[in-house]
Amino acid sequence: MIDDLPPLRDVVRAHGLAPRKSLGQNFLFDLNLTARIAREAGDLTKGVTVEVGPGPGGLTRALLAAGARKVVAIEQDERFLPALAEIGARYPGRLEVIHGNALEIDLAQIASGEALQVVANLPYNVGTPLLTNWLEQESWPPAWTSLTLMFQREVAERIVATPDERADYGRLAILAGWRATSRILFDVPPAAFTPPPKVTSSIVRIEPRQSPAPCRLESLTKVAQAAFNQRRKMLRQSLKSLGVDASALLEKAEIDPTARAEAIPVDGFVALANAYDALRS
Ligand code: SAM
Repeated sequence: MIDDLPPLRDVVRAHGLAPRKSLGQNFLFDLNLTARIAREAGDLTKGVTVEVGPGPGGLTRALLAAGARKVVAIEQDERFLPALAEIGARYPGRLEVIHGNALEIDLAQIASGEALQVVANLPYNVGTPLLTNWLEQESWPPAWTSLTLMFQREVAERIVATPDERADYGRLAILAGWRATSRILFDVPPAAFTPPPKVTSSIVRIEPRQSPAPCRLESLTKVAQAAFNQRRKMLRQSLKSLGVDASALLEKAEIDPTARAEAIPVDGFVALANAYDALRS
């Protein structure tokens, strides 16, 4: 027992909270696992902890039991609000629930100047768009100081990939590697969830770089997209779609024109983005 609230399975039964596939609802009932995720999130006694998709509140309870000073939980499915209100009553003043779509919510507004960490067992269908939003924030360093997130293992591998892991290395790894450092902490098997998903999941820890190599996000996105849209082709061919002289671009960025996208580290893409801007100005 981590608190004196009823066991989660009873909460789900009492409130009739059958999981909905369309909202990526796979619940965690294992208290050891939710406590472990809360531990990996670091010191929660300071700042604000944002949880996306609390559902019936298993992870929420673990965060609060771990001493989280303030949890802001964003949940789209209103069926969970009464169960979450019961948790809020158990921890007065420490849980705020926002009924809404996390994709439309600005973390900077929630933080209002305080340090903010995000911890979530994300719905699979919104995990990548949410992470991309948080990594693409205009002002940097961002409002968040760390992200401790559950992804499908395959997505986790695409986030942390380096050029040596060619199949997984692509646009997501470049964006994540440019602005942050990321590592997979541990895997979670399908059987840990109710209902079990088809695939293994992984907890990923992401911390923002304070000073990413200077370049324009828009240009970095463009060159990475052009390069990886034709990932089997040499860069002198794939980068033609950018509408600038691809040979001049590669020479300016000091990159071998016969190399393929998957062999170029993040620094190389930053150099390409800056060369692209220089050629167009
Ligand atoms: N955190 C709970 C747990 O670990 O048992 C539930 C996790 S479940 C994988 C994902 C949760 O995210 C569901 O409660 C779902 O309703 C919610 N959700 C789905 N899309 C959302 C969105 N765009 N914004 C906020 N919550 C969302």
